[in-house]
Amino acid sequence: MLRSVILAASRSTRVERLVATAPFTRDVVRRFVAGEGTDDALRATRELVADGLTVTLDNLGEDVVTAEQAAATRDEYRTLLGVLRAAGLTPAAEVSVKLSALGQRVDEQLAYDNAKAVCVAAQEAGTTVTLDMEDHTTTDSTLDILARLREDHPSTGAVLQAYLRRTESDCRDLATAGSRVRLCKGAYKEPESVAYQAARDVDKSYVRCLNILMAGDGYPMLATHDPRMIAIGEDRARWFDRGPDRFEFQMLYGIRPEEQARLVAEGHTVRTYLPYGQDWYGYLMRRLAERPANLAFFGRALASK
Ligand code: FAD
Repeated sequence: MLRSVILAASRSTRVERLVATAPFTRDVVRRFVAGEGTDDALRATRELVADGLTVTLDNLGEDVVTAEQAAATRDEYRTLLGVLRAAGLTPAAEVSVKLSALGQRVDEQLAYDNAKAVCVAAQEAGTTVTLDMEDHTTTDSTLDILARLREDHPSTGAVLQAYLRRTESDCRDLATAGSRVRLCKGAYKEPESVAYQAARDVDKSYVRCLNILMAGDGYPMLATHDPRMIAIGEDRARWFDRGPDRFEFQMLYGIRPEEQARLVAEGHTVRTYLPYGQDWYGYLMRRLAERPANLAFFGRALASK
């Protein structure tokens, strides 16, 4: 119920204005987002890499409605990749892109062209791109674009969401040599017709999908903060003899940093998903919807003002 309310608020421009202008917002945003500019992203990436983590950077922005906005996002990624390369932070740092921010809702070909330009820039910088997955209405289009991008850039990564009923089958299709697949639970509000609703069913699907990916020939990227899923991932890594160059854990910036450090100390590859940019509202609201404790953090920031 609470999750639905927050996810509904994430799409309200009125609530967005209220939250953006509230005095406590800055502290809350800073916990989950590196900052608004490329400099902030660079500083946070340096710190994470110095701590033994790898990074995937997300320039925040979604639901782009014009070709000009999409081109601006593409150019921001190209600038970022150049900056990361110049700072010697590739290949430890890669980028995550949302196709909606590259024009997917305007025109699929436009999103492909922009994503292709980002892949070319990533290749020049000596690193990779992962395509974030958004709501289920975009899954087919995103996987089609992924397949086209992988013809020239085979290391382009996909994201699959365990809450979707179709995902086991998608995992089987993508558990192939050279394929990088991030497995997450899924962050959008989806109808029962396409997605498991009960947390227990999502978890069971996550484990089935994890098993398929870890048993397959691709490179699994286990994106979760869930201690049970992480323990199962560690167990399957031992079982399938997957060392730090054959799979990785991924977590979001600001969430369970001590667990990220523990996994690094255990010798695992751990990638922190690092968002930055001015358009942080939708991202922040999805994080708050995921976990009541994050809301308590929001409340504490409010109370301390
Ligand atoms: P949850 O079911 O949210 O939590 C399970 C347990 O994890 C909790 O009970 C608690 O024990 C622990 N936990 C969770 N959060 C915290 C916390 N803040 N502090 C302490 N313990 C905590 N979603 C998409 O739809 N598309 C994407 O492209 C996408 N990319 C992602 C990339 C990365 C790297 C990550 C980590 C997530 C991504 N997500 C994406 C979000 C994802 O789908 C989930 O919404 C989100 O990760 C929460 O699910 P969870 O697996 O962490 O477990």
